Amino acid sequence: MKVGLSADGLRVVALPRDRSGFVRRRCGACRRHFKTRPGAQDGLAVQRFLAKQLKHQDADVPDAVEHSRCPYCGTAGAAEAWLTAGQRAHIAKLARGLEDHVQHAQMLQAGYTLDPTARPTFLPVTPEPLPFSLGTEPEDLRSVHLVCCDLDVKVQPDWDGPLHCPECGVRHGWPTHAVRVSLLRE
Ligand SMILES: [Zn+2]
Ligand SMILES: [Zn+2]
Repeated sequence: MKVGLSADGLRVVALPRDRSGFVRRRCGACRRHFKTRPGAQDGLAVQRFLAKQLKHQDADVPDAVEHSRCPYCGTAGAAEAWLTAGQRAHIAKLARGLEDHVQHAQMLQAGYTLDPTARPTFLPVTPEPLPFSLGTEPEDLRSVHLVCCDLDVKVQPDWDGPLHCPECGVRHGWPTHAVRVSLLRE
């Protein structure tokens, strides 16, 4: 899911996906990584985290909604709880870029409204282009299909504990000889 940065829909920002279309998540409770398909909550996660970084707090921060569970430990969290350190760093960089652009626009505005006979005492420096890309995502982890919600989740290849469905929370046990498997309810 992509999120518009402005009401004009000028630019969109999306969390990076790997080759098979999965987005990386990190659980703050157990610190393990997993991946799920992108969804509407990703836009909300980016928007909420971005709004928190901005000093100009006129931007609307959408409400937090409990969304998704960690497949390893079953902890539930709001959309932005699953952002990885890398994703957070990219969004923070974008926030700093937006601040620069806002400041630049304000300086230009000030320049235009000055007395035309007065000499400007500052020279607005054009800011760097905004870093809209939130990085790239390598193809890794192991794909598992969860029958409860017909959901594909990617987990650590060495994980042999039970798995919680990120969507409905049902706990699944591993069948033996699992490679890419459908998990049954326990
Ligand atoms: Zn966890
Ligand atoms: Zn489920």
